[in-house]
Amino acid sequence: MPHPHTLLAHAGCRPDPATGALVAPPVLSTTFERAADGSYPGGHVYTRASNPTRSALEEVLARLEGGAAAATFASGMAATHAVFQALPPGSHVVVPDDVYFGVRRLLDGVFGGILTYTLADLSTPGTLEQVLREETRLVWAETPSNPLLRITDLVALGAVTRARGIPLAVDGTWTTPLLQQPLALGADLVVHSVTKYLAGHSDVLGGAVVAKEESGLFSRIRQFQQTAGPVLDPFSAWLTLRGLRTLHVRLARQCETAAEVARFLDGHGAVADVYYPGLPHHPGHDVAARQMKHWGAMLSFVLRDEAAAHPLAGRLQVFRQATSLGGTESLVEHRASIEGPDTRAPQGLLRLSVGLEHAADLTNDLAQALG
Ligand code: PLP
Repeated sequence: MPHPHTLLAHAGCRPDPATGALVAPPVLSTTFERAADGSYPGGHVYTRASNPTRSALEEVLARLEGGAAAATFASGMAATHAVFQALPPGSHVVVPDDVYFGVRRLLDGVFGGILTYTLADLSTPGTLEQVLREETRLVWAETPSNPLLRITDLVALGAVTRARGIPLAVDGTWTTPLLQQPLALGADLVVHSVTKYLAGHSDVLGGAVVAKEESGLFSRIRQFQQTAGPVLDPFSAWLTLRGLRTLHVRLARQCETAAEVARFLDGHGAVADVYYPGLPHHPGHDVAARQMKHWGAMLSFVLRDEAAAHPLAGRLQVFRQATSLGGTESLVEHRASIEGPDTRAPQGLLRLSVGLEHAADLTNDLAQALG
């Protein structure tokens, strides 16, 4: 297999046999013609079931993650939903206590009465064993977590889940296959919000599930994708392939700049704490060093004066105040006010998604806003 960077540089560059176009155009057709004998020469029948552009993206994602197969969806949450709906009714699942808040909303609002769940601090060794039940059918992990950037040891987690025959799913949105390879570390599924780094330009909504093996669990996820149809549309799949071609270059620069921003904030008197696994005092630093290829481009910081956090976000000029992450533009978020009354994010916390601006413009912007 070529180096992942080469795979990325060529994503979606499969010459179109009809025209020779090096970059195959998106196939927007919803239906595909049968041959006289009733067969489907192109291998596709109807776009809800499969589509050439979506299949090209799924193939690249599966190869990048070292998985057997991938299924793409209309959003990261549609991908997450596809995983939970594949569990037998009455199943119990374990999710991190600072899991992306949309997952908690999904479990309460959509799967309430169908699944039960326990929130647990999976970054603390030994916690998982205490919350597993007879009817636990899935463990969900997110590392670094959102927005506290806690680090969970995926090898240790995978050893526990494998011994009990429970699938382990990891939300790989923040790390992409370039920074962390959950399937190689012990996970069975990787879930992505394609919306973020993979598409990379804040103009695509999408999600993906990548499976280590074509298991029964994955075949139920695939069946849901094809029969219910919460699929990634072909144009979004095409834009994602286009975004992937520069993922390695974007992410390398974003990670470098994020490390610089983290060091700047760590030395500032108004800042009580910086959550970034690249800082040596971060409690998950050693585990992150083992399982991540870089510390990532996301960080959070907490102000000494809790009430000053949200106004500070409003004073930033280069960082844009908006939700989401992984685009070329840096974003700042006051998570507590976005998540609402049931938030677990500290009021004094701001989360940064570091983009592709010059590092000095970002640190100067923070300096002027911090005063
Ligand atoms: N997982 C993580 C870690 C996220 O940050 C998000 C979105 O912010 C999602 C999943 C959901 O993805 P989407 O917004 O594409 O549905």
